[in-house]
Amino acid sequence: MLSFDAALQQLLAAVQGLSPEIEQVALFDAPGRVLAEAIVAAVNVPPEDNSAMDGIAFCFDDLPQGGELPISQTLFAGMAPTALMPTTAVRLFTGSVMPENADTVVLQEDCEFLANDTVRVKQRPKRGQHIRKAGEDIAIGNEVLSAGELLDARHIGLLASIGHADVVVYKALRIGLLATGDELVAAGQDLASGQIYNSNLPMLTAMLKAEGFIVDARHVQDDLAKITAQLQQLADSCDVVLTIGGVSVGDADFVKTAIKTIGSLDLWKVAMKPGKPLSFGKLLAKGGDEVAVMGLPGNPVSAFATYTLFAKPYLRLKQGMVNVQNTPVFYPIRLNKTLNPKREEFVRVRLLHDDAGFYLQPYAHQGSGVLSSVAWATGFARLSQGMQISCGQSVSYLPFS
Ligand code: AMP
Ligand code: MG
Repeated sequence: MLSFDAALQQLLAAVQGLSPEIEQVALFDAPGRVLAEAIVAAVNVPPEDNSAMDGIAFCFDDLPQGGELPISQTLFAGMAPTALMPTTAVRLFTGSVMPENADTVVLQEDCEFLANDTVRVKQRPKRGQHIRKAGEDIAIGNEVLSAGELLDARHIGLLASIGHADVVVYKALRIGLLATGDELVAAGQDLASGQIYNSNLPMLTAMLKAEGFIVDARHVQDDLAKITAQLQQLADSCDVVLTIGGVSVGDADFVKTAIKTIGSLDLWKVAMKPGKPLSFGKLLAKGGDEVAVMGLPGNPVSAFATYTLFAKPYLRLKQGMVNVQNTPVFYPIRLNKTLNPKREEFVRVRLLHDDAGFYLQPYAHQGSGVLSSVAWATGFARLSQGMQISCGQSVSYLPFS
């Protein structure tokens, strides 16, 4: 049996070959995509020195003892300034560009606006105060993002701030998802005796889409010929195929046999709970390409766990994301239970807090078919085999999000 760490390392090591293809997308379509090139700023942010406050600006050395200056121009944000006349002030607002010859801003609250367009500065300011300098956020030539970054709203904002209307990303991987089982019925239909709703297919589709992947989700009966045909179709049109169920002993090995018919398969026994059997192999596509296939267990909690712990980092690395080797990231938090795990265990827990700080509360029913545990929990507590965990002891916590 492989340990969880060894299995994950082996799996990530299997991500080889060329980087994914690239494409250019509009900035608005970029959230959830992985940046394919480093971004270097071609502009300064802000582009010019500007006022951080509503108030007035002038040349510090021009301020007379009495603090009075005539106002020679008014500048709203968006207006291009003209050079400031000597010994005058400019009325300006947050974001107004500093005119040439002005080097100091005074808040309007610290000014007295007199008749005849004159202003009196009530207190002596500091030279250069309240100015946002050109390039103080981003300077021309700065690398603002590196390739492999999973883009979200923060990066979109940053890219927009340096004027990028579109961005080069890796093409989204196409994931084929094949749920097997005669007993499965799609939500929305009536259940006959013996049938259950297919929960894994929508759940995994949702998780894959949340990562920005394109998903071809299908359900197939427990029938060797049908499974083989579906696998072939997915291999021909997808970058990676995930199967769900049909790999346990009771399933007459349909999925395993089907994979071996059009490819090869390694069965990994991973010493972990939930999600012990994990199969990983290759399918031969019609064009001659080899397409990776991963077999997830059918029990919904096991499917969720093996996807989260194995398939997700594997797919992220394959999609071109960086720093995947360092995931998943676990945080030390105390567990509110005494446990003695016999295997490496990923317990569904909810992060709560009391006067002493954060703690993890395990869900009462940890069965691998109990999807309520996943929906209730906020993450996994990872317990090593043979650990003697007393209530209040710190364990490793992996948040779901
Ligand atoms: P299997 O790995 O096919 O033997 O499935 C193990 C258990 O998970 C069985 O109780 C199946 O009914 C259940 N199961 C398999 N696939 C799904 C699915 N897509 N949705 C919900 N339950 C499933
Ligand atoms: Mg089955």
